[in-house]
This record gives sequence, structure tokens and C-alpha cells, in this order.
Amino acid sequence: MRALVKHPNEVGLRLDDVEVPAPGPDDILIKVLTTGICGTDLHIFNWDDWARATVPAPITVGHEFSGEIMGVGSNVSGFEIGELVGAEGHVVCNRCRNCLAGRRHLCYDARGIGVNLPGAFADYVTIPKSNVWRHQEGLDPEIAALFDPFGNAVHTALEFDVLGEDVLITGAGPIGLMACAVVAHAGARNVVITDVNPFRLDLAKRMGANRAVDIRVEDLHDIQVELGMTEGFDVALEMSGSPSAMEDILQNTIHGANIAILGIPSDPFPIDWSVVIFNMLNLKGIYGREMFETWYKMNVLIQSGVDISPVITHRFEVDDFEAAFEATASKESGKVLIRWADPA
Ligand code: NAD
Ligand code: ZN
Repeated sequence: MRALVKHPNEVGLRLDDVEVPAPGPDDILIKVLTTGICGTDLHIFNWDDWARATVPAPITVGHEFSGEIMGVGSNVSGFEIGELVGAEGHVVCNRCRNCLAGRRHLCYDARGIGVNLPGAFADYVTIPKSNVWRHQEGLDPEIAALFDPFGNAVHTALEFDVLGEDVLITGAGPIGLMACAVVAHAGARNVVITDVNPFRLDLAKRMGANRAVDIRVEDLHDIQVELGMTEGFDVALEMSGSPSAMEDILQNTIHGANIAILGIPSDPFPIDWSVVIFNMLNLKGIYGREMFETWYKMNVLIQSGVDISPVITHRFEVDDFEAAFEATASKESGKVLIRWADPA
């Protein structure tokens, strides 16, 4: 089968011909339809320090995908051949305190599909049955392929109550864009998103933001006045990893604001802790998705009309994977998809 493989000691990926993985007794073999490229894949493609230290090359990469069940291991029941599925990319240990208590998203020792475990940028992938998510019948495989990053957006956006609240989202990458749609649907009064990228700010207006702010040239205090706000944003979602975005949040949130932090900074950075203390801010780190409550919510959000399709800006065939990675790296893009096969 075809697979995008990371080889050690080189930048880029190779489109290799490899064996179809054999499912173990508890695994499900999935024929991949559509995959999405995420920032993690770019780190692996570029073979940066993090990737070198983390990824056991050679390995098939990729974790955002949708596919159809092709086969199941001997211990697997309740799944049917041909069903449209996706997978939670964090494979948990099932032994740590949080796993045993059912809080699997807080696992002490999770491994990542396409990072530490063989990935989905291939014609076929095997996934442990406990990680497989069955999609609603008739869901578009492209939307299904977004469920991993959509899950990041939903997990963060629903961490705090946003009904009637003024919500600030920093970072209009694919995840910030999808968070706009969720927060708007969940009844926020104002959804304000910031970025430094006009292409993405344009997209944000189609994703439910009522104000998309180029933070290089506009000030959030002015935006607050424009929107008739007086004390600051009630909820903030940090989705850029940028230190200055965190500063924007600290300077523009109400006393007692709820702040969910998803963006991953490339380096440690200082913040003014006295603002956190005097303003009694509530900071919450967010990683991955809740297993599987976030997946349930994603499904019902789509069913009840949340449209995340505008976030898809590019589609490529497998042979053009390098162009797909280029489009992702350029940031003149939302979500970039690669098509592996059509639904049966
Ligand atoms: P992305 O890198 O495509 O988007 C980040 C956006 O932030 C970009 O559009 C960038 O222009 C913008 N930005 C840069 N500086 C800014 C500033 N000062 N103010 C406002 N915006 C600014 O990433 P993504 O795929 O949308 O993911 C969002 C963030 O979440 C990234 O930091 C990513 O690493 C992180 N992430 C975290 C998890 C998790 O589980 N915690 C999972 C996936 C991604
Ligand atoms: Zn665990």
C-alpha cells in the first residue's frame, strides 16, 4: 500500500510502498479515505528538534483521517465492515490513576497515532478498537476527517459556559476558526477573533466571528468600545501559542474571566502573574479531546447545524503531498486535505 513515511536524518516525507498493517486481536483495520495535515505533521516533515526527539523513524505519519472499516480483530465486536469511522489519536495506557478513573484524556502516558505509533497517511491503518469512533451515517468523509482538530476546538470552546458571553479567540488557524463556529452556535453575544494573517481573518468572518481583528493594526480596547463592552471579555480561548496573544487576553478580560489555553508556545515565556491574581482569572490548559464526550458533542453540533466546511481551503491527491505540505506551511490556507480513496 502507499504510505507517507518519515525516514530518519532527512527533511520531508517519502511516499513508500509498504505492507498493509495486520490488525491484532483488539484492532480494527481501516481503509483511509481523507486525511488532514496538522501542525504536528509539519514539525515531523521539517524534522525539527521536537520531532527528532519524539518520532521513532522510520514510521508512517498522520493522525487526522476518516476511513471505512475493512476488517476487525478476533476480539472486536459491534463494528461492521464498511462503516465510516475516525479515531481518537491519543492511545491511553489504561493503567494510570486517571485512566482507571475513566478520565482517559488525562492519561499520564498517552501515545500518539502518527507520532509514536504508525499513522494514517496511508491506504490503510490499524487502530485499537477502544480508539475507533463510528460516525453518523451519511457524514461527508471530508468533515469526518476534521474531527481530530475540530475536537480540539470543541473541547476548548465548551470548557466554559459561553451563552450570552463576550468571547475572545486569539489565533485564526484551523482550530480557532472552527472554535468561532462552535462559540457562535453555543450562544455567545460577541465572538471576536484575532490573528496577524488577513487570509485567515477573512475566513473567520465566514465561520461565525462578528469581528475579525488584525492585531497588528487594531487594538482590542477599541474593539470593546465599538461593541459596547465595558469590562472586558468574559471568556478567552488562546489558540495561537503566541506570547503577545496571551498578553492581549490578560489585558482585555473581565475580572474572574475564564481562559482556556490550547495554543502551544514554541518556548517558555513570562506573563504578568499579578494580573492573574488581582483580576482573579481562571486559567485552564486544554490538550486533545475528552474521550469520548468531545466526540459526542462534535457529532451533535454537526447534526444541529454547525458548519465547519469553510475551513477546508485546499484538496490534494496523494502524489501531490509535497504541495499539500507547502500549502499548510504557507498559512495562506485553512485546513488542507489529501484524498486517498473514494467511499465504497
Ligand atoms: P496554526 O498555527 O495554524 O494557527 C495559529 C494562528 O495563530 C495562525 O493563524 C497565526 O497567524 C496566529 N497568530 C500568530 N501570532 C498571533 C498573535 N499575536 N495574535 C493572534 N494570532 C496570532 O495552528 P492550529 O492548527 O489552528 O492550532 C492552534 C494552536 O493550538 C497551535 O498553537 C497548535 O500548536 C495548538 N494545538 C494544541 C493542541 C492541544 O491539544 N493543546 C492540539 C492541536 C494544536
Ligand atoms: Zn493512562
